[in-house]
Parts: sequence; structure tokens; C-alpha cells
Amino acid sequence: MTAPRQSRIALLAAFLAATALFAAVIWAMAFARGLDQAEARGRSDLALAADRLTGQLQRYREMAVIVADHPAMAPLPVSAPVRDKAAELLLTMADMTGSAGLQLVDASREVRAAGLPSETAPETVPPGVQPALSRALNGALGAAHFTTEAGRRLYAFAAPVFSAAGPAVGAVIVYVDIDAIEWNWPADDAAVFFTDARGTVFVTNRSDLILTRLGADFPRAGSLRFNGHDLWRLDAGRYLPRRALHLVQDMPVVGLRGELLLDLAPVRAVALLQAAVAAALCLAFGAFLFFMAERRRTLARANAMLERRVAARTRELQAANAELRHEVGERAAAEARLKRAQAELVQAGKLSALGQMSAGISHELNQPLMAISSFAENAALFLERGRPEKAGENLTRISDLARRMGRIIQNLRAFARQEQESIADVDLVAVVGAVLEMASGTITRAGVRLDWRKPRAPVMVRGGEVRLQQVLMNLISNAVDAMEETPDKRLTLRIEREAALVRLRVADTGPGIADPSKIFDPFYTTKEVGRGEGMGLGLSISYGLVQGFGGAIRGANRAEGGAEFVVELVPASAAKAA
Ligand code: ADP
Repeated sequence: MTAPRQSRIALLAAFLAATALFAAVIWAMAFARGLDQAEARGRSDLALAADRLTGQLQRYREMAVIVADHPAMAPLPVSAPVRDKAAELLLTMADMTGSAGLQLVDASREVRAAGLPSETAPETVPPGVQPALSRALNGALGAAHFTTEAGRRLYAFAAPVFSAAGPAVGAVIVYVDIDAIEWNWPADDAAVFFTDARGTVFVTNRSDLILTRLGADFPRAGSLRFNGHDLWRLDAGRYLPRRALHLVQDMPVVGLRGELLLDLAPVRAVALLQAAVAAALCLAFGAFLFFMAERRRTLARANAMLERRVAARTRELQAANAELRHEVGERAAAEARLKRAQAELVQAGKLSALGQMSAGISHELNQPLMAISSFAENAALFLERGRPEKAGENLTRISDLARRMGRIIQNLRAFARQEQESIADVDLVAVVGAVLEMASGTITRAGVRLDWRKPRAPVMVRGGEVRLQQVLMNLISNAVDAMEETPDKRLTLRIEREAALVRLRVADTGPGIADPSKIFDPFYTTKEVGRGEGMGLGLSISYGLVQGFGGAIRGANRAEGGAEFVVELVPASAAKAA
């Protein structure tokens, strides 16, 4: 079991305990309040019942006094007719008042006359009435209650009969049958009973309780005090409550004690209901709180999971990003390496072309050098002969030749220099001129006729001057090489202008291209290896250079024989317009 689960169970247990405690407190409060209300009601019921009993008994008491005062009672009748008359009066009174019977007793406690309508009434004065009779014979009013041998409960009042002289000579005793009093009591829902000094139930509205004694055969199973109330638990039939509120009221006038047992079931039910409602409210509130907490916990859990996922995804993305950056770096490095290799290749191509042309170049430089030396000798001779104007002419020729040599060297240097020139507007006519100047030695030595229709105006194209020279140089030396064995050697150079295109054609009268589809592949060559001529790189380098200018290069065989290479370039104006 996990720790949070354990704590939740503990919390639940605590909550249930608190709910139970709360319900118990509510129950106790409701029960106490219910008891207070029940007691108020019970007290008035008990007072009513006590008043009723007292009132009923009081009637017989007053009757005893009135009958004792009757002239027929005193002096005590001795003769039979007088006795009969007295007895008749007593019987009439008994009949009229519903009394169990009346007796006229003399000072020696002998019954002189009696009216006994009910056979329950005693013939002689029962022992239980003797104390009351004594009080009457002393001139006071006596009262007593007792049980006959037949088990009937009787209440008796004894009133003194006074002689003319003053002292009491006898007494009238009125017997009241308790059954007769009880029978017309309304059926109260509370059990009421009246006990005597010994605790015996003498009058009651519950027949089960008659003549039972508290602490003996009274059906009380237990009692307790709650909040100042006396609560009894009973073990009796269905006419007595199982749990009852016990109330007491003293009745000194009749020598009894009124007691009442009020059923607690309604009070308990109400208290239980209130406690149940409180508990239900508590539980509902608790359930609501629990639900809310549960919901919050679920949300928090979902949130945490989401965050974990986001974090994991972020980590993955970061790793992927790092890898990507690494790859980009590697690619950039590879590109740089490639560029370097390409630049080196270009340089190698240039130097190889220069190597191929070196014989022509030395011839090119040698020729003006020889001319210069002979012009110089001539000039010296003319000066000796005193013809300075002729010497000046020669010197001018020397200076022209020197300038031409300077130009050739300058071109060679520019061509051989390894530099990163940017793409710019270049005059294609000038490029052709420079290359022809460098290659003219090679061309003439090979016996090639040059057919070059030079445009009058410059033709500006996008490109690099030196790289364009390199391309053209390569095409020319290839053409010269190709025509080595051809009797009619002719090299044709053309520049054609179109709106969005400048075409440079280089055509020869050689044997043509053996395999036009392969000539731009690197290291493709048909020339003998070892003659120091071809490496098969010239055209592939040229291809890359021209593409770099945004142009194209193609090689094909002509119908009339020989090969023709076409270099297409972007005109400067078109590039600007674009
Ligand atoms: P290389 O000149 O070193 O052989 P290139 O790339 O310049 O390398 O040329 C490749 C091949 O193309 C040549 O070996 C040749 O076979 C062919 N070629 C180039 N120009 C011509 C041409 N004008 N006539 C016939 N074949 C040519």
C-alpha cells in the first residue's frame, strides 16, 4: 500500500469518526431538548391526573363530614327502628355518591349502622382503617387506604360524630372503591400511578402496575439520570413504554405520590432523525470535498504526466537539433573542402594549360626578343653612321615590341594567378583577344589558320575574366590538338548576340569528337597518357566554370566535319534587367 493511499484511509477514518461524534453531539442535544419539552408536557399531564384524583377523593371526604353532621347520626342510634333509619340514610348516600359503603361506628369501634351497597365493603372496621378511626374519635378527620382480603383497594375517610356536649362519640367512615374511580379515567398515553409511603402502586391507569411495589415486583429494569431527567427502562407488556421519562409529584392531601412514565420513543425518534440528517449532511459534504480533492488530484496527475511528456519530447528535439547542427557543420566543412578542391583543380587545369602552351609562349616571347636585338643592333649602326632619325625609328619599334611582350607576360601572370575573382561584367571580345595573344605562338607553330570575325563593339557578358580565358584557352588548345593530323587546319571563332544570350563558337576541321557524351566527364581523354598532354580535366573544369556564370557549354560534331564547341553566356544587360 502506498503512503498517500494510507494517509487517505486515515483521513477517511478520521472524517467518519468526526462525523459520528458530530452526529452523537447532535443526538444528545436533540434528545436533551426533546426531554425538556416532554417533561413540560408530562408535568402538566401529571398535575392534571393528580388534581383529578384529589378532586374525586375530596368529594367523599366532604360527604363524610356532611353525613357525620346529620341529626340521624347523633346521638348514636340504639333502638332498632332508629338504627334502621340511620342505615337507610347511609345506604341512600352511598347509592347517590357511588361510594363503596358507609359505616357509623361508636367510640368502642362497634359498627352501629351501615349502608353497604357493594359486597366489597367490610362488615367490621378493617385494621387498615383503625388509625384513621382513632383520629376521628379524637375529633379530627382521618383518611386511610388499604387492600381487602379479596384484593380490592379501598380508600376510607373517617369523620367524627359530635355529641351535643362536644366530644366525639363516634365516626362516619366512607369507603371508596379505587376501581370505581379508575374505570372512567380517559385512556392517557402516559402511564400514571400513585404510590403510597411504602412505594406500593395504589392508583394507576395501567392495570399491570396495580399493587406492584417499587424496588420489588414493579417492572423496572433500570434507570439513569440524563441532563437532570430521570430515565427508566421497563420490562413490561405492551401497555408500558420500554423507555420512559419518570416524573414525580407529591400529593400530601391524599397521602400519595403521583408518578408518570412518558414514552421516550417519539423523543428518541426525533433525536435520531436529527442526528441522521446531520450525519447525512456531513457525509454529503465530505463526499463533495472528497470528490473535489480527487478531481484536483487527478488533474494534477494528468498535468504532471503532460509535463513529463513535454520534457521528454523537448529533450528528444534538443538531441535531434544538436545532431542536425552537427550534420550542418559537417556538411559546411565538406562543402568548404569541396570548394577548396575545386579551386585547386581549376588552378591545376590552368597550370596544365600553361604547360601545354609553354613552347608556344616561349616562341611568342622569343620572336619579339630576337626582333628587339636585331632592331637594337641596327639602331647602333645607324647612330654610328650618323643617322639618328633611322636609329630613332628602330628604337620606337623596340619599345613597341617590349610593350607587346609586357602585355603577353601580364596576361600569363593574370592567367596563372590563383585568385577568387567575383562574377562581373566582362568584355568577351577582349577575353578572346587576350587568349589569342597568348596562344598565337601555338596556333601559328601548328600551322593552323585562324578565322576570327572580331565584333567592332565590345560584347559584355556575366563572368570572370580569367576563368573565361581559361575556358577559351582550353577549347583552342583542344582544337589545335585535334587538327594535328589534318591537312586543312582551320580554327573558326564567332561571337553571336541574341536578346538574352551570347554565344561563343569554337569550331575546327579535325576528326571530330569520338564520344560526345563523355567529353565533359573528369579524366576522360583520348590523348596518350605520358605525352604530358591531357589529363581529361580541361572540359570538365570548363563545364563547372561556365555553369558558375549561369551559362552552358556543349560540344558536338559538325555535318561538314570537325568538332564545334558552343559556350552560352548571360549578357550583362539581361543580367541587370533580371
Ligand atoms: P584532354 O584535352 O586533356 O584530353 P579535355 O577534357 O580537354 O581533356 O578533352 C577531353 C576529350 O575530348 C579529349 O581527349 C578528346 O577526345 C575530346 N575532344 C576535345 N576537344 C576536341 C576536339 N576539338 N575535337 C575532337 N575531340 C575533342
